[in-house]
Amino acid sequence: MCGIIGYIGASKAIPIVYSGLASLEYRGYDSAGIAYFLNDDIKVIKEKGKLINLKEKLNFDTDTFLAIGHTRWATHGEASITNAHPHSVGKFTVVHNGIIENYSTLKEELKMRGYTFKSETDTEVIPALLDYYYKDEQDILKTINKVSKKLIGSFALGIICRDDANAIYALKNSSPLIIAKSKTGNFLASDVPAILKYTNKYILLDDGDMAKITKDTITIYDTNLNTVNKETLTFTGSKKTAEKNGYEHFMLKEINEQDKVFKDTIGSYFDGTINSLEKNFGFLKNFKKINIVACGSAYHTGVIAKHLIEEYANILVYTEVASEYRYQKNFYDEDTLVILVSQSGETADTLAALRKAKNDGIKTLAIVNVLGSSVARESDYCIYTKAGIEVSVATTKAYLSQLTVFSLITMYLGYINKVIKKDELESIFKDIKKMPKLIKEEINNYQEYYNIADKISKNKQIFFIGRGLDYANSLEGSLKLKEISYINSVAYQAGELKHGTISLIEASTPVIAIATNKDLVDKTISNIKETKARGAFVIYESFIEPVDKFYDEFIKIPEVHPILESILTIIPLQLLAYKVAKNNNCDIDKPRNLAKSVTVE
Ligand code: GLU
Repeated sequence: MCGIIGYIGASKAIPIVYSGLASLEYRGYDSAGIAYFLNDDIKVIKEKGKLINLKEKLNFDTDTFLAIGHTRWATHGEASITNAHPHSVGKFTVVHNGIIENYSTLKEELKMRGYTFKSETDTEVIPALLDYYYKDEQDILKTINKVSKKLIGSFALGIICRDDANAIYALKNSSPLIIAKSKTGNFLASDVPAILKYTNKYILLDDGDMAKITKDTITIYDTNLNTVNKETLTFTGSKKTAEKNGYEHFMLKEINEQDKVFKDTIGSYFDGTINSLEKNFGFLKNFKKINIVACGSAYHTGVIAKHLIEEYANILVYTEVASEYRYQKNFYDEDTLVILVSQSGETADTLAALRKAKNDGIKTLAIVNVLGSSVARESDYCIYTKAGIEVSVATTKAYLSQLTVFSLITMYLGYINKVIKKDELESIFKDIKKMPKLIKEEINNYQEYYNIADKISKNKQIFFIGRGLDYANSLEGSLKLKEISYINSVAYQAGELKHGTISLIEASTPVIAIATNKDLVDKTISNIKETKARGAFVIYESFIEPVDKFYDEFIKIPEVHPILESILTIIPLQLLAYKVAKNNNCDIDKPRNLAKSVTVE
């Protein structure tokens, strides 16, 4: 969600900032802009839509060595040139990620002090406040510090001031911001891909931190303006993870990486022995109830985990979307564990739910992909998924890595709670070994799923149905399809369809029915037949060979232990969604209106 980059150094700044913005494109945006110093003045160039529109207005050869850039994901005011960042008032120019919750009050106060506003954004109050307080303070750092105390909400800010052509200033609260040092200059950015071309070393700012970045120095200050030392982290992934490597889309590349992601995630916590599980998950023994809180696909892994943990470990699990959880009454016991799942670890709703649970004195576990992210740092326990950088907005490999972690957790809890016996455990271990090969085989089987996709691409709505765990799988299958293809798709409990929704089924409506639960397969088949009787085009996904032909297409998946089966269930559906979106010429990696890392509420 929105990308910020700033550069100051020995090289020409506009090409560097532009390419940094390009590597943050995956976060989602609707307009973009750059501000730079030229002849002691600040120039601002902005444009609506894709970065390429901005590029046409830029001169990459400009003799400027300091620039800040922004890709905006509008929260306040439409996507327009006026609302695009950077925003300037008086001597100050800023780029902002986040939301200023008290901007209306601040705006009124500033209007009374004679300020006028050009945009509809919440952001514009920030340069206005800076300008106002600077008149008294005459010190940039002190002014930023003062303004930070007036702002309520989330903000990652890049700030420049006409009085200091040798520095970029940064301020962080709730939205992510990193600082990086390279041989040819220094950076601030929303995320690591923006700086990877120049360095793999970076510093994570904490909430309340301010920074002053010059061409040779980086100084970080706390809320009392004392300087602080921060650990320098090293990004260990390959630079290539942020490139397409010959694939047409990041999504396809990331789907293709899933066998490796499974191996990497398993390999980090499990060496084939129960001791390794004990070592990594032993702390889970202390808890008798679990709440799983997350958003989007991460929430779906939580719904799957609820089914698995309840079934195989006899532990009560409550799963809820974070934006609801944080505003509802939560019934905790002393031995409740709250698990937060987030790819970025910066999801604003998930972070708020985490803070609420902590505030209530409840222990928390983060299942997060991005090292050192806010959710990871603030939780009591953290298990990292090992998906590497995921660029496509629609998650595939990060989702799979979250499922993998939940498989390990279920296996461990099931074993210590004596639901999973030794021989069953051994057979799961064997299946784990087979999984990378099975995942790869499914990926290689893409043409089969593409052929099915070609038959449903022009439909206006598509249903996903399943019972129990398969309903949970349907949720993700349906989300994947609708978020990238814009085809209305609904996931339904197969048995619930007849209580209303079946009225929507008409001739040729695609119904994708998932049936991987042997105990429920006959019931699900009855429900499938109900839709078939009304003309549905049925796509049946299962490892269970049907005795009669009640379907139009059969996606046959390999059979493994149910703890692992959801992983093999989703891959064909990811590839199906991908091809439907491609057939419809959709912007697969950056679907409209969506952002990768949702850092606003
Ligand atoms: N709230 C600001 C706006 O609407 C910033 C949005 C963003 O994070 O891109 O302009």
